[in-house]
Amino acid sequence: MSIIHKKKISLIVAVYFEEDCITQFIKETEAVLKTLSIDYEIIFIDDGSTDNTVLLIKESAKTSPNIKLIELSYNQGKPIAVSSGISYATGHYLLCMDPDLQDPPNEIPNFIAEIEKGYDLVFGLRKEKRDSFINRLQSKIFWRFLNKLSGLQIPENIAVMRIFNRKFANKFLEYSEQSRFIEGIFMHIGMKRGSLLIEQQERFAGKSKFNFSRKKSLALDAIFDFSEIPLKIAVKIGAYLFVGSLIFLICIFISKLLFVDFQAGWASIICFITLFSGLQLIFTGIAAMYIGRIYKEVKKRPLYSIKELTNL
Ligand code: UDP
Ligand code: MG
Repeated sequence: MSIIHKKKISLIVAVYFEEDCITQFIKETEAVLKTLSIDYEIIFIDDGSTDNTVLLIKESAKTSPNIKLIELSYNQGKPIAVSSGISYATGHYLLCMDPDLQDPPNEIPNFIAEIEKGYDLVFGLRKEKRDSFINRLQSKIFWRFLNKLSGLQIPENIAVMRIFNRKFANKFLEYSEQSRFIEGIFMHIGMKRGSLLIEQQERFAGKSKFNFSRKKSLALDAIFDFSEIPLKIAVKIGAYLFVGSLIFLICIFISKLLFVDFQAGWASIICFITLFSGLQLIFTGIAAMYIGRIYKEVKKRPLYSIKELTNL
């Protein structure tokens, strides 16, 4: 007699100050998951919240062993939180989503159906982003700029919600870099990719943690982790300036030979000096961004630090 093993799905959910969403999220996702003929676990990764988020998750974990919690020691950023969740997940399928119910839990069965068609990764694409005009504009500029500078081809309307299989997860875990732009790594892994259009909702409660400065640092991570284009731009501009000044020098030399008597102005000299020292500083800065990243990588520090595990 053969034993049929049920498949299992692991939800990976990073949480950071989400006390207003967590109870509703658990209620809605468990309601959906229980209707499926598949085992499940919901792995929450607390990224250093100091509100009641952890308390509420632990309360639910007492009655449901499928609810699991990794408490990171302090705020280490969403990419690290998600990575720690992936390394603890035991499912055949892993599904990342946010707890703010922007990506609706009732899409979970659709994601499972889609990946069962034989994909390794199925990422959600938002039909439309329910967000303020400024936020939508920011994210449009962000993705355009990023794709140009990084050479990646990430769809502008990519959602957080995505599902991938064990093979894909294992490949992801081989990436050991400290500074990690998850979307970039996912694209870099490649394999068989599909996508699913989903309806995005408003945030259930609480507010977005990705303010402008966090978005900016995410963009910098993405650019400097995935591209050498900034370095190439610096070299290109340097080369143009060098050729320009050579031509300028030759012109001055010829004018002198022709006994043209001209007075070089103080203002233009100052302008050139400040302009070029500015450019030099910018380009040194660009090189320093890469060196800083190399420094961070060569130290090979552990990726995350965990305070406590529940049901794991
Ligand atoms: N998050 C996290 N660590 C952080 C910031 C955010 O784990 O340092 C989580 C947060 O709890 C949320 C998710 O990342 O579940 C996405 O954040 P948010 O909804 O604020 O961003 P938005 O959807 O507005 O881009
Ligand atoms: Mg959100």
